[in-house]
Amino acid sequence: MENRLKPMDAEQLREYGHKMVDFIADYYKTIENFPVLSQVEPGYLRNLLPDSAPNQPDSFQHVLDDIQAKILPGVTHWQSPNYFAYYPSNSSVAGFVGEMLSAGLNIVGFSWITSPAATELEMIVLDWLAKMLKLPEDFLSAGQGGGVIQGTASEAVLVVLLAARDKVLRRVGKDALEKLVVYASDQMHSSLQKACQIAGIHPENCRLLKATSSTNYALSPEFLSETISQDLTIGLIPFFLCATVGTTSSTAVDPLLSLGKIAKSNGMWFHVDAAYAGSACVCPEFRHYMDGVEEADSFNMNAHKWFLTNFDCSALWVKG
Ligand code: PLP
Repeated sequence: MENRLKPMDAEQLREYGHKMVDFIADYYKTIENFPVLSQVEPGYLRNLLPDSAPNQPDSFQHVLDDIQAKILPGVTHWQSPNYFAYYPSNSSVAGFVGEMLSAGLNIVGFSWITSPAATELEMIVLDWLAKMLKLPEDFLSAGQGGGVIQGTASEAVLVVLLAARDKVLRRVGKDALEKLVVYASDQMHSSLQKACQIAGIHPENCRLLKATSSTNYALSPEFLSETISQDLTIGLIPFFLCATVGTTSSTAVDPLLSLGKIAKSNGMWFHVDAAYAGSACVCPEFRHYMDGVEEADSFNMNAHKWFLTNFDCSALWVKG
Protein backbone atom coordinates (compact mmCIF):
# COMPACT_ATOMS: atom_id res chain seq x y z
CA MET A 1 0.00 0.00 0.00
CA GLU A 2 2.81 2.40 1.00
CA ASN A 3 4.47 1.78 -2.35
CA ARG A 4 1.32 2.43 -4.34
CA LEU A 5 0.89 5.86 -2.82
CA LYS A 6 4.37 7.09 -3.75
CA PRO A 7 4.57 9.70 -6.53
CA MET A 8 5.72 8.24 -9.84
CA ASP A 9 9.47 8.13 -10.35
CA ALA A 10 11.41 8.87 -13.54
CA GLU A 11 11.19 5.26 -14.77
CA GLN A 12 7.42 5.24 -14.33
CA LEU A 13 7.29 8.55 -16.17
CA ARG A 14 9.10 6.84 -19.04
CA GLU A 15 6.71 3.89 -19.02
CA TYR A 16 3.47 5.84 -18.67
CA GLY A 17 4.70 8.66 -20.88
CA HIS A 18 5.24 6.16 -23.70
CA LYS A 19 1.78 4.70 -23.10
CA MET A 20 0.24 8.15 -23.22
CA VAL A 21 2.02 8.96 -26.47
CA ASP A 22 0.70 5.66 -27.90
CA PHE A 23 -2.80 6.60 -26.75
CA ILE A 24 -2.59 10.00 -28.44
CA ALA A 25 -1.05 8.54 -31.61
CA ASP A 26 -3.90 5.99 -31.81
CA TYR A 27 -6.40 8.79 -31.27
CA TYR A 28 -4.99 10.66 -34.26
CA LYS A 29 -4.95 7.51 -36.37
CA THR A 30 -8.65 6.91 -35.71
CA ILE A 31 -9.88 10.48 -35.31
CA GLU A 32 -11.96 10.33 -38.49
CA ASN A 33 -14.06 7.50 -37.01
CA PHE A 34 -15.51 9.82 -34.35
CA PRO A 35 -18.54 12.02 -35.00
CA VAL A 36 -16.96 15.48 -35.14
CA LEU A 37 -19.61 16.95 -32.86
CA SER A 38 -19.97 15.24 -29.49
CA GLN A 39 -23.31 13.39 -29.36
CA VAL A 40 -23.77 13.38 -25.57
CA GLU A 41 -26.59 15.07 -23.65
CA PRO A 42 -25.81 17.83 -21.12
CA GLY A 43 -24.90 16.33 -17.74
CA TYR A 44 -23.90 12.95 -19.27
CA LEU A 45 -20.66 12.72 -17.31
CA ARG A 46 -22.12 13.00 -13.83
CA ASN A 47 -23.87 9.65 -14.30
CA LEU A 48 -20.63 7.97 -15.35
CA LEU A 49 -18.31 9.17 -12.57
CA PRO A 50 -18.45 8.64 -8.80
CA ASP A 51 -19.91 11.30 -6.55
CA SER A 52 -16.65 12.01 -4.75
CA ALA A 53 -12.95 11.54 -5.42
CA PRO A 54 -11.73 7.93 -5.07
CA ASN A 55 -9.78 7.10 -1.92
CA GLN A 56 -7.56 4.54 -3.66
CA PRO A 57 -5.22 5.11 -6.61
CA ASP A 58 -6.24 3.64 -9.94
CA SER A 59 -4.10 1.81 -12.49
CA PHE A 60 -2.85 3.82 -15.44
CA GLN A 61 -4.54 1.41 -17.86
CA HIS A 62 -7.84 1.81 -16.04
CA VAL A 63 -7.56 5.59 -16.33
CA LEU A 64 -6.91 5.29 -20.08
CA ASP A 65 -9.88 2.92 -20.44
CA ASP A 66 -12.06 5.45 -18.64
CA ILE A 67 -10.87 8.21 -20.97
CA GLN A 68 -11.70 6.06 -23.98
CA ALA A 69 -15.13 5.06 -22.72
CA LYS A 70 -16.31 8.12 -20.82
CA ILE A 71 -14.36 11.18 -21.92
CA LEU A 72 -13.85 10.78 -25.67
CA PRO A 73 -17.63 10.56 -26.32
CA GLY A 74 -17.90 14.01 -24.71
CA VAL A 75 -15.19 15.52 -26.90
CA THR A 76 -15.88 17.63 -29.97
CA HIS A 77 -12.97 16.79 -32.21
CA TRP A 78 -11.45 20.14 -33.14
CA GLN A 79 -8.43 18.42 -34.66
CA SER A 80 -10.50 16.21 -36.99
CA PRO A 81 -9.94 16.88 -40.68
CA ASN A 82 -13.75 16.94 -40.90
CA TYR A 83 -14.07 19.82 -38.42
CA PHE A 84 -15.37 23.00 -40.05
CA ALA A 85 -17.13 24.84 -37.20
CA TYR A 86 -16.24 28.22 -35.65
CA TYR A 87 -12.66 28.71 -36.93
CA PRO A 88 -9.59 26.52 -37.41
CA SER A 89 -7.78 25.86 -34.14
CA ASN A 90 -5.12 23.49 -35.30
CA SER A 91 -2.46 21.96 -33.19
CA SER A 92 0.33 19.81 -34.58
CA VAL A 93 2.58 17.02 -33.40
CA ALA A 94 5.39 19.57 -33.02
CA GLY A 95 3.00 21.72 -30.98
CA PHE A 96 2.01 19.08 -28.47
CA VAL A 97 5.46 17.54 -28.16
CA GLY A 98 6.56 21.07 -27.17
CA GLU A 99 3.68 21.15 -24.67
CA MET A 100 5.03 17.94 -23.12
CA LEU A 101 8.37 19.60 -22.53
CA SER A 102 6.73 22.70 -21.14
CA ALA A 103 4.60 20.59 -18.78
CA GLY A 104 7.64 18.53 -17.81
CA LEU A 105 9.77 21.52 -16.90
CA ASN A 106 6.78 23.25 -15.28
CA ILE A 107 8.42 26.65 -15.29
CA VAL A 108 6.85 29.48 -13.32
CA GLY A 109 8.01 32.55 -15.20
CA PHE A 110 6.46 35.51 -13.41
CA SER A 111 9.74 37.40 -13.31
CA TRP A 112 13.13 37.04 -15.04
CA ILE A 113 14.85 35.46 -12.03
CA THR A 114 12.15 32.79 -11.55
CA SER A 115 13.47 31.29 -14.80
CA PRO A 116 15.58 33.57 -17.01
CA ALA A 117 15.21 31.30 -20.07
CA ALA A 118 11.42 31.66 -20.01
CA THR A 119 11.40 35.45 -20.18
CA GLU A 120 14.25 35.61 -22.68
CA LEU A 121 12.86 32.91 -24.98
CA GLU A 122 9.44 34.60 -24.98
CA MET A 123 10.99 37.92 -25.96
CA ILE A 124 13.18 36.42 -28.68
CA VAL A 125 10.44 34.30 -30.26
CA LEU A 126 7.92 37.15 -30.18
CA ASP A 127 10.52 39.35 -31.89
CA TRP A 128 10.92 36.65 -34.56
CA LEU A 129 7.15 36.50 -35.01
CA ALA A 130 6.91 40.31 -35.12
CA LYS A 131 9.53 40.33 -37.87
CA MET A 132 7.67 37.60 -39.79
CA LEU A 133 4.56 39.79 -39.59
CA LYS A 134 6.61 42.85 -40.53
CA LEU A 135 5.38 44.75 -37.50
CA PRO A 136 7.01 48.18 -37.13
CA GLU A 137 10.26 48.29 -35.11
CA ASP A 138 8.48 50.00 -32.21
CA PHE A 139 6.87 46.65 -31.44
CA LEU A 140 10.22 44.89 -30.99
CA SER A 141 11.77 44.32 -27.59
CA ALA A 142 14.97 46.18 -28.48
CA GLY A 143 13.19 49.44 -27.54
CA GLN A 144 10.43 50.22 -25.07
CA GLY A 145 7.88 47.97 -26.76
CA GLY A 146 7.68 44.25 -27.26
CA GLY A 147 5.57 41.14 -27.31
CA VAL A 148 4.14 39.03 -24.53
CA ILE A 149 2.17 35.78 -24.61
CA GLN A 150 -1.37 35.97 -23.29
CA GLY A 151 -3.76 33.07 -22.87
CA THR A 152 -6.37 34.33 -25.30
CA ALA A 153 -7.23 37.31 -27.49
CA SER A 154 -9.94 38.11 -24.93
CA GLU A 155 -7.26 38.57 -22.29
CA ALA A 156 -5.14 40.61 -24.71
CA VAL A 157 -7.90 43.14 -25.41
CA LEU A 158 -8.66 43.40 -21.70
CA VAL A 159 -5.00 44.05 -20.87
CA VAL A 160 -4.65 46.86 -23.41
CA LEU A 161 -8.05 48.33 -22.55
CA LEU A 162 -6.96 48.58 -18.91
CA ALA A 163 -3.65 50.16 -19.95
CA ALA A 164 -5.49 52.68 -22.12
CA ARG A 165 -7.98 53.42 -19.34
CA ASP A 166 -5.15 54.00 -16.89
CA LYS A 167 -3.39 56.31 -19.34
CA VAL A 168 -6.44 58.45 -20.06
CA LEU A 169 -7.57 58.66 -16.43
CA ARG A 170 -4.12 59.93 -15.41
CA ARG A 171 -4.67 62.73 -17.91
CA VAL A 172 -8.31 63.62 -17.26
CA GLY A 173 -8.78 62.52 -13.64
CA LYS A 174 -10.19 59.37 -12.06
CA ASP A 175 -13.73 60.72 -11.80
CA ALA A 176 -14.06 60.71 -15.59
CA LEU A 177 -14.49 56.91 -15.85
CA GLU A 178 -18.14 57.14 -16.82
CA LYS A 179 -17.33 59.53 -19.66
CA LEU A 180 -14.87 57.19 -21.41
CA VAL A 181 -15.98 55.85 -24.80
CA VAL A 182 -14.81 52.77 -26.73
CA TYR A 183 -15.32 52.32 -30.50
CA ALA A 184 -15.32 49.31 -32.81
CA SER A 185 -17.52 47.93 -35.56
CA ASP A 186 -20.48 45.71 -34.77
CA GLN A 187 -18.49 42.88 -36.39
CA MET A 188 -15.95 43.01 -33.57
CA HIS A 189 -15.63 39.85 -31.48
CA SER A 190 -17.71 39.88 -28.27
CA SER A 191 -14.49 39.83 -26.23
CA LEU A 192 -14.38 43.64 -26.46
CA GLN A 193 -17.78 44.01 -24.80
CA LYS A 194 -16.72 41.62 -22.04
CA ALA A 195 -13.51 43.56 -21.52
CA CYS A 196 -15.49 46.82 -21.32
CA GLN A 197 -17.73 45.30 -18.64
CA ILE A 198 -14.72 44.19 -16.60
CA ALA A 199 -12.99 47.54 -17.06
CA GLY A 200 -16.06 49.43 -15.79
CA ILE A 201 -16.79 51.22 -19.06
CA HIS A 202 -20.38 52.45 -19.02
CA PRO A 203 -22.33 49.95 -21.22
CA GLU A 204 -23.83 52.82 -23.25
CA ASN A 205 -20.32 54.08 -24.01
CA CYS A 206 -19.25 50.96 -25.85
CA ARG A 207 -20.02 52.03 -29.42
CA LEU A 208 -20.31 49.12 -31.84
CA LEU A 209 -20.81 50.96 -35.11
CA LYS A 210 -22.85 49.26 -37.79
CA ALA A 211 -20.77 47.90 -40.66
CA THR A 212 -22.64 46.94 -43.81
CA SER A 213 -22.05 45.16 -47.11
CA SER A 214 -21.30 48.59 -48.66
CA THR A 215 -17.88 48.48 -46.93
CA ASN A 216 -17.48 44.68 -47.03
CA TYR A 217 -18.37 44.75 -43.34
CA ALA A 218 -15.42 46.95 -42.46
CA LEU A 219 -15.72 49.91 -40.09
CA SER A 220 -16.29 53.15 -41.98
CA PRO A 221 -13.79 55.91 -41.04
CA GLU A 222 -16.39 58.59 -41.90
CA PHE A 223 -18.99 57.01 -39.63
CA LEU A 224 -16.38 56.73 -36.88
CA SER A 225 -15.36 60.40 -37.21
CA GLU A 226 -18.98 61.55 -37.09
CA THR A 227 -19.69 59.48 -34.00
CA ILE A 228 -16.58 60.75 -32.21
CA SER A 229 -17.53 64.36 -33.01
CA GLN A 230 -21.03 63.84 -31.61
CA ASP A 231 -19.61 62.28 -28.46
CA LEU A 232 -17.16 65.14 -27.96
CA THR A 233 -19.90 67.73 -28.24
CA ILE A 234 -21.81 66.11 -25.37
CA GLY A 235 -18.70 66.04 -23.16
CA LEU A 236 -17.73 62.39 -23.52
CA ILE A 237 -14.09 61.25 -23.80
CA PRO A 238 -13.23 58.93 -26.74
CA PHE A 239 -10.26 56.88 -25.56
CA PHE A 240 -10.09 53.44 -27.23
CA LEU A 241 -10.54 52.25 -30.81
CA CYS A 242 -10.40 48.59 -31.73
CA ALA A 243 -10.04 47.54 -35.36
CA THR A 244 -10.16 43.96 -36.63
CA VAL A 245 -8.08 42.26 -39.29
CA GLY A 246 -10.28 39.27 -40.12
CA THR A 247 -13.60 39.44 -38.29
CA THR A 248 -14.85 36.14 -36.88
CA SER A 249 -18.02 35.94 -38.97
CA SER A 250 -16.79 37.10 -42.40
CA THR A 251 -13.01 37.87 -42.18
CA ALA A 252 -13.74 41.56 -42.87
CA VAL A 253 -10.69 43.82 -42.60
CA ASP A 254 -10.99 47.30 -41.12
CA PRO A 255 -9.02 50.10 -42.87
CA LEU A 256 -6.21 50.43 -40.32
CA LEU A 257 -4.46 53.45 -41.77
CA SER A 258 -7.45 55.81 -41.82
CA LEU A 259 -8.82 54.51 -38.53
CA GLY A 260 -5.41 54.86 -36.87
CA LYS A 261 -5.12 58.47 -37.98
CA ILE A 262 -8.52 59.25 -36.50
CA ALA A 263 -7.50 57.59 -33.24
CA LYS A 264 -4.25 59.53 -33.12
CA SER A 265 -5.85 62.91 -33.82
CA ASN A 266 -8.25 62.27 -30.94
CA GLY A 267 -5.60 61.04 -28.49
CA MET A 268 -7.07 57.53 -28.42
CA TRP A 269 -5.40 54.14 -27.95
CA PHE A 270 -5.60 52.12 -31.18
CA HIS A 271 -5.69 48.33 -30.82
CA VAL A 272 -5.66 45.94 -33.76
CA ASP A 273 -7.30 42.56 -33.20
CA ALA A 274 -5.91 40.11 -35.74
CA ALA A 275 -6.73 37.11 -33.54
CA TYR A 276 -8.18 35.13 -36.42
CA ALA A 277 -6.45 36.24 -39.62
CA GLY A 278 -3.11 37.42 -38.18
CA SER A 279 -1.42 34.08 -38.83
CA ALA A 280 -2.17 34.33 -42.55
CA CYS A 281 -0.37 37.68 -42.67
CA VAL A 282 3.05 36.03 -42.35
CA CYS A 283 2.49 35.11 -46.01
CA PRO A 284 3.86 37.95 -48.15
CA GLU A 285 0.76 37.82 -50.38
CA PHE A 286 -1.54 38.51 -47.40
CA ARG A 287 0.63 40.97 -45.44
CA HIS A 288 -1.09 43.95 -47.11
CA TYR A 289 -4.19 43.28 -44.97
CA MET A 290 -2.18 44.67 -42.08
CA ASP A 291 -1.10 47.83 -43.86
CA GLY A 292 -1.58 50.76 -41.49
CA VAL A 293 -0.59 48.71 -38.43
CA GLU A 294 2.15 51.31 -37.93
CA GLU A 295 -0.60 53.55 -36.50
CA ALA A 296 -1.50 50.98 -33.83
CA ASP A 297 -0.56 51.10 -30.15
CA SER A 298 -1.07 47.38 -29.77
CA PHE A 299 -1.53 44.35 -32.01
CA ASN A 300 -2.70 40.83 -31.25
CA MET A 301 -2.86 37.51 -33.12
CA ASN A 302 -3.74 34.01 -31.98
CA ALA A 303 -1.03 31.42 -32.53
CA HIS A 304 -3.66 28.89 -31.39
CA LYS A 305 -5.75 29.54 -34.47
CA TRP A 306 -3.87 28.94 -37.74
CA PHE A 307 -0.40 28.50 -36.37
CA LEU A 308 -0.32 24.78 -35.50
CA THR A 309 0.05 25.69 -31.84
CA ASN A 310 -1.86 24.24 -28.91
CA PHE A 311 -4.66 26.22 -27.33
CA ASP A 312 -4.03 28.63 -25.69
CA CYS A 313 -1.35 30.94 -27.03
CA SER A 314 -2.19 34.49 -28.03
CA ALA A 315 0.58 36.92 -28.95
CA LEU A 316 0.22 40.56 -27.95
CA TRP A 317 2.59 43.37 -28.90
CA VAL A 318 2.56 46.85 -27.44
CA LYS A 319 4.42 49.78 -28.94
CA GLY A 320 7.16 51.47 -27.00
N1 PLP B 1 -11.07 38.31 -32.03
C1 PLP B 1 -11.38 37.61 -33.15
C2 PLP B 1 -11.41 38.31 -34.47
C3 PLP B 1 -11.69 36.24 -33.05
O1 PLP B 1 -12.01 35.55 -34.15
C4 PLP B 1 -11.66 35.62 -31.77
C5 PLP B 1 -12.01 34.20 -31.62
O2 PLP B 1 -12.58 33.59 -32.47
C6 PLP B 1 -11.33 36.40 -30.66
C7 PLP B 1 -11.04 37.73 -30.81
C8 PLP B 1 -11.28 35.80 -29.28
O3 PLP B 1 -10.25 34.88 -29.23
P1 PLP B 1 -9.91 34.04 -27.90
O4 PLP B 1 -10.78 32.82 -27.97
O5 PLP B 1 -8.45 33.74 -28.04
O6 PLP B 1 -10.23 34.90 -26.73
